[in-house]
Amino acid sequence: MRYSIPIRIRLTIWYVLLVAITLAVFGGFLYFNLARGLYAEVDATLQLVAAQAARDVDNENGKPSFQNAEEHGDIAGRIQARGFTMRLVDAAGNTLDGFGHYSLLPSLRISEGFMTVRISGKPWRVYVLPLPATHGNGSGYLLQVAEPLARVEDILELVGALLFLGIPVVAVIATLGGMFLSGRALGPIDRLTRLVQSMSAEDLSRRLDMKLPNDEVGRLARTFNGMLERLESAFRRERQFTSDAAHELRTPLTVMKGNIDVALARPRNTSEYIRVLEELETQVDRLAHLSENLLTLARCDTGKAPFRPEQLDIVILLEGLVEQVKPLAESKGISVELQGLDRPILMGDQDQLIRLFLNLLDNAIKYTPPGGEISVMVASDGASATIAVKDTGPGIEPEHIPHIFERFYRVDKARARSEGGSGLGLAIAKYIVQLHGGHIEVESEPGRGSTFAVRLPLAIKEDMANK
Ligand code: ADP
Repeated sequence: MRYSIPIRIRLTIWYVLLVAITLAVFGGFLYFNLARGLYAEVDATLQLVAAQAARDVDNENGKPSFQNAEEHGDIAGRIQARGFTMRLVDAAGNTLDGFGHYSLLPSLRISEGFMTVRISGKPWRVYVLPLPATHGNGSGYLLQVAEPLARVEDILELVGALLFLGIPVVAVIATLGGMFLSGRALGPIDRLTRLVQSMSAEDLSRRLDMKLPNDEVGRLARTFNGMLERLESAFRRERQFTSDAAHELRTPLTVMKGNIDVALARPRNTSEYIRVLEELETQVDRLAHLSENLLTLARCDTGKAPFRPEQLDIVILLEGLVEQVKPLAESKGISVELQGLDRPILMGDQDQLIRLFLNLLDNAIKYTPPGGEISVMVASDGASATIAVKDTGPGIEPEHIPHIFERFYRVDKARARSEGGSGLGLAIAKYIVQLHGGHIEVESEPGRGSTFAVRLPLAIKEDMANK
């Protein structure tokens, strides 16, 4: 058997993978959107501050500068306190005025818009706003506003670090959780496996713990118990069958041995030898009959019983059988007759059906006392035919009825055996009926007689045939 990773581990791996992928996608999305939002806010603030500062540019005497007056000092101070720096640059790139750390700003390539620059290794965001020339002093000049990105970078770094560390931590927790959950879910299955492994054919009477809830595992255990139940009864039947078969074989052999011993005890005359041989012949016939029945049952069990169905008129078949058994019945003073107006056509194996009805007729004759009557009745209901073999024999007590189709089951062991019965006839009959997709049942009134009714499906359903 190829080794495969246990379900518990596979489940955990899948679970952890899913959690990790979900977290990574979610974390990436979060990080990306947060960064975009923060940078957009920096840009918006820069634009706002630039617009404010542009209004405060003093352009008297043709030399623009920030109003240095006290009334603006506090605004500039506030802007500066938040880390902003700004300057005014003319077209040639000369700084005209500025505040904050503007001297650190490098000369910029752009004359309008945003760009990110590095000042002593740290990123800054710069916004450049062109301002028009006034007083006819030539070209205009540029207002450059810059803000350090350190704060944004710090936040992003923190979030990034949290995600970077958080995902593995969550993955570890998910692994432990996954192992725990799948262990809990699959633990009972492991226990079931160990229990089943510890069972052998000898202790099939053991059952799995039935206190399990009605969940998947509980149902598995119950299904298994059901199977054990069937196995146990199959084993029991098998053992019973073997011991019954051995017993059946022993009886005629004992009788034969006894007869031979008696015959050999002293010299006998011819007629005495003939009597012994006749007795031996009876026993040999019985053994042959028994072994044939056993063979039939064995073939049925292995599904190798010959079954060659053909369309047949069951009344013709039964007429033949009634004629065949009549001499035996009449020798016992029993009458046999066939009744019924229907002539159903069945799909059946002729040899098997002959065997089935001969078994039923044999039993009827065997168990009916002299002066009794046996009637075979045929009826059809459009879908199936019912053939009933009714006798006026001793009947069968209700407690025996559920068992008479079992192998070797005999109501009156001594009597049935003296009649040559082995208790297999009805078991074989039942098999044949089942093989034909039919049904057999018995109705009996002790002291008044029994009726064995066989229902077999018709070859052509009548309502279809009439169309
Ligand atoms: P057996 O070979 O002993 O007849 P069967 O399997 O044919 O075995 O029948 C099983 C038992 O059912 C018989 O031993 C007998 O006790 C009972 N039985 C069968 N047919 C009849 C019947 N027509 N009337 C009364 N008892 C019957």
